[in-house]
Amino acid sequence: MQVLNAKKCQKIVVLGTGGTIAGTAASASDHTGYTAGQLSVQHLLDAVPALHDSLQGHDLVGEQLAQLDSKDMDHATWQALAQRCAHWLAQEEVDAVVITHGTDTLEETAWFLQKVLDTNKPVVMTCAMRPATALAPDGPQNLLDAMVVACDPLARGVLVVCAGQVHSARAVQKVHPYRLDAFSSGESGPRGFVEQGQVRWQGGADLSQVHAHARAALSVPVAQWPWVAVLHSHAGADARQIQALVAAGVKGLVMAGTGNGTVHETLASALLQAQAQGVVVRLVSRCAQGQIVGQTVFTAAPLGLNAVKARVSLLLDLLG
Ligand code: ASP
Repeated sequence: MQVLNAKKCQKIVVLGTGGTIAGTAASASDHTGYTAGQLSVQHLLDAVPALHDSLQGHDLVGEQLAQLDSKDMDHATWQALAQRCAHWLAQEEVDAVVITHGTDTLEETAWFLQKVLDTNKPVVMTCAMRPATALAPDGPQNLLDAMVVACDPLARGVLVVCAGQVHSARAVQKVHPYRLDAFSSGESGPRGFVEQGQVRWQGGADLSQVHAHARAALSVPVAQWPWVAVLHSHAGADARQIQALVAAGVKGLVMAGTGNGTVHETLASALLQAQAQGVVVRLVSRCAQGQIVGQTVFTAAPLGLNAVKARVSLLLDLLG
């Protein structure tokens, strides 16, 4: 179950404006021959049962503001949308506004709202690239992710949530006519990612914080520094590599696992044995982007560090 930050949520208002997210097609396999703006915002909310579980008793208000294909967006709808946003955001019990919108002009509406709404509360826009009738529609997950962002205490201003990414109104642009991740923030990259009901803001963590054992790193002779090695999980892996390191006195092992931190079964049992013998194990992903999400058998390195940086952190951890 997706868990929202309940601390901040009192009431979330969802304004429906149409788009593919509310679109319907005659066939489930049809991703292009559909009519946008057919289903009500209430219908979209009802199609995501986890949404209500996630809100944990907090109120959700759905309001149909328009029912448009956003290629036909007009200034009158913009004004009405901004007025309703301002109305709701001024209510003390309203923590955020979520807007369902077509993808075609989403970036324009986002920027308009960013420039006209005077608020610190989040206004989270979301959308879909496939109609609601598709075999695997993307709208429900996008709506759920938008709700997660709306409830996040660090969310501010107008944000766009699509395909697990959070974009600012300023940077976001539709860059693809068909792909589910149709939006990009260009050079600046997304503001964050929604993973398993949590927002991972880019640059949100204080990476510059001095390690608790920094002093030791400057004074303990390096010959006494703990030996920390990096290993990769891969096809045809051999446990003797770990056994040899443990026998030779390794103190820490950073395992670069496959995908979301999975480890070849041969290596996993050797690592468990190593742990039982007092070796500290940290897990990272071999993937160049993202970071391990959710529970893993071994402790994941913090901040999504790559293997060699995770080795530095573990070395410092052990230096104390
Ligand atoms: N034409 C649709 C719209 O912008 C496209 C979409 O929502 O993806 O409303």
